[in-house]
Amino acid sequence: MATPTQSTILCVDDDKVTLRVIERLLANNGYAALTAESGEQALQTMQKTKPDLILLDVMMPGMDGYEVCAKLQQDKDLSYIPVIFSTAREEEEDKARAFALGAVDYLVKPTPKDVLLQKVASHLKTKARWQDLGQTSTPRRPEAQAADFSQFKTFLSTRLSPTPKTRETLSALTPVQLYQQAAAVGVSATEMARYVADFLHLPYLPLFRPEEVALGILPPPFCKKNLVVALNDTGGGYAFALSNPFNWELIQLLKRWKGQSSATPKLLVTDPQNIMSLFEQEAVRDTENLRKSSMADIEEQLRKRYQAEVETIQTVGDAAEESEPVILLANQLIEDAYGMGASDIHIEPWENEVIVRYRVDGVLRIGHRFRPQSLIRPLVSRIKVMSDLDIVERRLPQDGRIVFKKFSGKGLDFDLRVATTPMNFGEKVVMRILDKNKAIISLSNLGFSPRHLQLYREKITTPYGMILHVGPTGSGKSTTLYSALKEIQTPEINIQTIEDPIEYTLPGINQMQIHREIGLTFQRALRSYLRQDPDVILVGEIRDRETAESAVEAALTGHLLLSTLHTNDAASTIVRLIEMGIEPFLVSASIILVCAQRLLRRLCPECRETYQPTEEEKQLVGVAPHADISLYRPKGCRTCNGIGYKGRVGVHEILVPDDAMRRSLGTSGITSEVIKRLAVENGGMTTLYWDAMEKVRAGLCSTEDTLSEVRKDEFDSRPPWMFEELGLERPHTLQ
Ligand SMILES: [Zn+2]
Repeated sequence: MATPTQSTILCVDDDKVTLRVIERLLANNGYAALTAESGEQALQTMQKTKPDLILLDVMMPGMDGYEVCAKLQQDKDLSYIPVIFSTAREEEEDKARAFALGAVDYLVKPTPKDVLLQKVASHLKTKARWQDLGQTSTPRRPEAQAADFSQFKTFLSTRLSPTPKTRETLSALTPVQLYQQAAAVGVSATEMARYVADFLHLPYLPLFRPEEVALGILPPPFCKKNLVVALNDTGGGYAFALSNPFNWELIQLLKRWKGQSSATPKLLVTDPQNIMSLFEQEAVRDTENLRKSSMADIEEQLRKRYQAEVETIQTVGDAAEESEPVILLANQLIEDAYGMGASDIHIEPWENEVIVRYRVDGVLRIGHRFRPQSLIRPLVSRIKVMSDLDIVERRLPQDGRIVFKKFSGKGLDFDLRVATTPMNFGEKVVMRILDKNKAIISLSNLGFSPRHLQLYREKITTPYGMILHVGPTGSGKSTTLYSALKEIQTPEINIQTIEDPIEYTLPGINQMQIHREIGLTFQRALRSYLRQDPDVILVGEIRDRETAESAVEAALTGHLLLSTLHTNDAASTIVRLIEMGIEPFLVSASIILVCAQRLLRRLCPECRETYQPTEEEKQLVGVAPHADISLYRPKGCRTCNGIGYKGRVGVHEILVPDDAMRRSLGTSGITSEVIKRLAVENGGMTTLYWDAMEKVRAGLCSTEDTLSEVRKDEFDSRPPWMFEELGLERPHTLQ
């Protein structure tokens, strides 16, 4: 029998030898040990004796450890007893699972004696502290709480500009209903969490991984009830992630728990769903019939199919990529991406799960997370089958293409460019959606300023010369070029393209896909084109001297040649061509226009809000000092999924060489700085910075987002006409 000072520990294991060893070890160290040889027997013993701690074997015939723990959680009297799992394998996944089921920790068999004793002692101590905390009454400070919360409601109403009805709901809101009533005041739970974080100046945590959870700090039932969880901090300590910091009692408890009576523990605000999902992972087993949506169905099928295999051995057979759920999953991921207008799909093996991210409007966002992690193998294999790649080759990167029409049950017709790369946790797949039938946007809708649009239209109707579009990948170069071709296309002119890949199908235009593997390069295709009497040629990209030479030759022999280059701005493009080995006089004779471009995020027109900029900001965006002007910033609403931005808008820098510049190109050692200065001061060129600021002043873009995309050192390159137009004084140095 246990003496009053002894702690009682229940050991559960189907192996009698193990039980006897642990029993003796515990008894020798001053504990009262009880034993049970099965799950059923363990439950009976618990109900009778209410032990202080349970050491629970996971793999047992009949009722296994997971089930015992789940039963325990349903019993109010037993749910606070710390349970330590004893498992045969150490997997991060087991850790997450243990926590989800309500265990405080887990031990890996065979367990060294000192580790076992140390864990037992530490969790008993934690339990005792919890009991003490529960007995000391929480000092109630409802007035402080009420003040904070009512300030928060005021803050929320200035952000939401509520209707009279939502204003009423808002004023009746209590701290407890914060998330239940979120929809009623017109925001999602995620937006609400962001507002809370903003208001309290706490960091917002969009997502965390189950393995970041610090085990054994807070009892799982407490976490579940109060939607709080302890996370391992990068600094070696831990922080609490919670969704409702207005819960005064909870905060007080956490403060005392950390043992710092006055200091606030490190808090992070997160969406309540993020915490709930830690526990739902396992609850799914009991509520199979509740899952309805198609993705949920597929996930469920996958889980059933692979969970068992994962628990025993790691391998999922290669043949599995043809299994029904995997086929459905691959299709669903692609269809989802297409439906939300994503440009790219990233399928990534992380340490313990598979993450699917979608790039929408240039920004990657997590779309799905799957477990088990071993799903990556059949999923990648399936995608390889769809794109005719070698499914056995997993160590080398591969490139391919999916003609989705062949696989889509919904008649969707688009292609995907596929690239696989081996990473440390498995193969990663990136797919770019090539929607050949997407409507070509007209030039006037690309965001060109009136001045730029006029200039651009004038040059693309010139009979010969070279037009270059430059900017990083994803800056919208191809979109602009296709729009240009569409605008100049008539039955009277012959337009031929050389592309890699063909991103759009253009009716009435001859398009060629290059094939480097058989020697059909840009340069070779271009040479053959010159014998076919085209009027306009589009070359996908110039990246070597040979292609550049042929392009210049085409431009100088009566053709309009359009192409792209990977340079950052218009001026450096000219220098790049010279560096590639093209004679400066040929460059100067052939180029008629260089357009550098970027895509900026467009403020959501539904929810953007006005504000008065500071004098410093006015200067940055090019507004006269003390001018009365409002700018716009992002807010977030349902239309834009709480992001505050929706779609993108192009910003441009157009360089048209004049005679003076052509002359100076001939001088040796010309730099891009000189070209840029000539273009701005003599030619009146608007740089990317100032074109972007025009969009900021028009309320299309935010200052913050824009400043992160353009070069601030361009602030001083303003064409003379701009000072006049904006009513600004010209700096003396320029006069
Ligand atoms: Zn919005």
